Amino acid sequence: MKNALWLKETIFAVLTIKMNLAFLLLGSNEGNRMHWLKYAIQLIHEKIGLVVNCSSVYETAAWGLEDQNSFYNLVLAIETEQNAFQLLQSIQFIEQECGRQRNLKWGARTLDIDILYFNDEIIETENLKVPHPFINKRKFTLVPLVEIAPSMVHPVFLISNEQLLLDCNDSLPVLKIISHLKTRF
Ligand code: AMP
Repeated sequence: MKNALWLKETIFAVLTIKMNLAFLLLGSNEGNRMHWLKYAIQLIHEKIGLVVNCSSVYETAAWGLEDQNSFYNLVLAIETEQNAFQLLQSIQFIEQECGRQRNLKWGARTLDIDILYFNDEIIETENLKVPHPFINKRKFTLVPLVEIAPSMVHPVFLISNEQLLLDCNDSLPVLKIISHLKTRF
């Protein structure tokens, strides 16, 4: 009887765990850029949750501070039990693990991770803004995002990622270099 109750409670707990769908932008322009992206995906798998989709890797010109090495960028869709603030802490931990130094805004970095979307939530705090405020301004974000989620609707602008890309006037180059990265470990 006690066993049956335990089983019932466990099944209820599993069924009611809330899974969140988040989209992350990963970028690297310092050191072995492909290594940092692969290592970050492994750490995301270990510390955050399941990688359910991964875009191609793109080589993109640095945006903001243009006189620096080009970036390798990709976008991941992940499922996680963490809420948006826990996810922010986890990605900052992973950035540190990948040797990230916080020096110059928009300067060179071994690894940068941005939360683009978190479900369809709108969050406006000092430390966390979701959807990411620059989604619609930068092709290095929109091109990989559209590859894996073209019809997903931006919860503030109420238009699809595909339409955001069509409307974006960023002219910096975004070049596909690798189609499939290993995302299961
Ligand atoms: P960055 O230099 O791009 O890594 O910016 C990191 C800072 O942006 C951190 O202090 C975060 O607290 C803040 N931030 C605000 N919104 C976001 C977001 N959607 N994703 C990642 N960092 C964010």
